[in-house]
Amino acid sequence: MGLEFIPGADPAVAEALTGELAHQRGSLYLVASGNYLSPAVLEAQGAVVANERAEGYPGARYFAGCDHVDEIEELAIERARELFGADHVNVQPHSGTQSNMGVYVAVLDPGDTILSLELSHGGHLSHGHPANFAGQYYDIVQYGIDLETGRIDYDELAATAREHDPAMIVTGFSAYPREIDWERVQSVADEVGAYHMADIAHITGLVAADEHPSPVGVVDFVTGSTHKSLRAGRGGFIMCDADYASDIDAGVFPGSQGDPLMHNVAGKAVGFREALEHEFEEYAAQVVANADALAATLTEHGLELLSGGTDTHLLLIDLRESHPDMTGKDAESILETVGVVLNANPVPGDTRPPTVTSGIRIGTPAVTTRGLDESDMETLGELVVRALDNPDDDETIAAIGDRVDDLCDAHPLYEQYD
Ligand SMILES: *Cc1c(COP(=O)(O)O)cnc(C)c1O
Repeated sequence: MGLEFIPGADPAVAEALTGELAHQRGSLYLVASGNYLSPAVLEAQGAVVANERAEGYPGARYFAGCDHVDEIEELAIERARELFGADHVNVQPHSGTQSNMGVYVAVLDPGDTILSLELSHGGHLSHGHPANFAGQYYDIVQYGIDLETGRIDYDELAATAREHDPAMIVTGFSAYPREIDWERVQSVADEVGAYHMADIAHITGLVAADEHPSPVGVVDFVTGSTHKSLRAGRGGFIMCDADYASDIDAGVFPGSQGDPLMHNVAGKAVGFREALEHEFEEYAAQVVANADALAATLTEHGLELLSGGTDTHLLLIDLRESHPDMTGKDAESILETVGVVLNANPVPGDTRPPTVTSGIRIGTPAVTTRGLDESDMETLGELVVRALDNPDDDETIAAIGDRVDDLCDAHPLYEQYD
């Protein structure tokens, strides 16, 4: 990406960075949590504010010399408040995971009970998997997806909440294609006296553009990643009512982080501003329209989707019926061969191990940023199905690879960097 100094300073890293740009240009990125950040956001993330120590918050730092840093953080906060209609925003979490950690540290004690969705049903590690700090420091009970409908089993969620009396209920998921009913879960949280944290990591951009109902003002805490569908720079953020502001700020710093990454806060400020433009609403609507078009094509060609389709940017393909001998990992690998990048993902009730799985997850945020539309989704969907149907036919696989190249050439990426 317009490398000026690295080639002289560090040829090995320069070569890998140049290779990465070529890789991004020459493949279609369907990882549901992925996107392409704008050159302005990328520039902000490489800016000299990276040098500044800034523990604390605007106007109350532990270091001198923070005037410009304060200005940047205040701009990020103001823009996020406007974008989401939130009372209070903390823009310092280094990632979505750190956002969740900040909330837990702010309002829970170790050993408290968290009720969350199982990882294999679409939840996230930071919602309480045993391999993650959340699973190690808190007592985790879980709800699941109704295997018949492929939708959140809200009745099971309510029954489990009544039985276990959790301190916190977590909603918001990594592999769930349908709208989430925040109010319904909030009424359960009210009934059992639990906090409700909505982790909108995946759908931040859709919520910002009103393409998905917003949990802001409905639930206690909203956390998110900024680099997914919002494409507003690497990192995380937390939103809450004014009543919780000082608790949340203390949960992030000093509770769970040290110095903020001010270059990333600058990236968020620039990205939030981009998301306030009218074009971003059009973008988010196109993300959903593209996911819907892709779902229709894949379904027409006999693939099975969790819940039969999507309301969002995301589809989860369950290969067990259509391709019983193909694992999610096999599918990921054959698609990578043709230049389509996505990830193997467990499907609810999966009996294969999480590194193998029986599903693949697809998302449209990145290819939509690249300019692909519904008709491209039809083409892409057909190519995906052909690759999955003919993994051992080298000639067909090569021909599909050529078609993917054509799609990439028709939608150039980062032309500014030539
Ligand atoms: C991606 C994701 C996160 C973590 O975000 P990072 O920024 O990768 O740490 C948290 N929660 C959910 C639901 C996610 O999908």
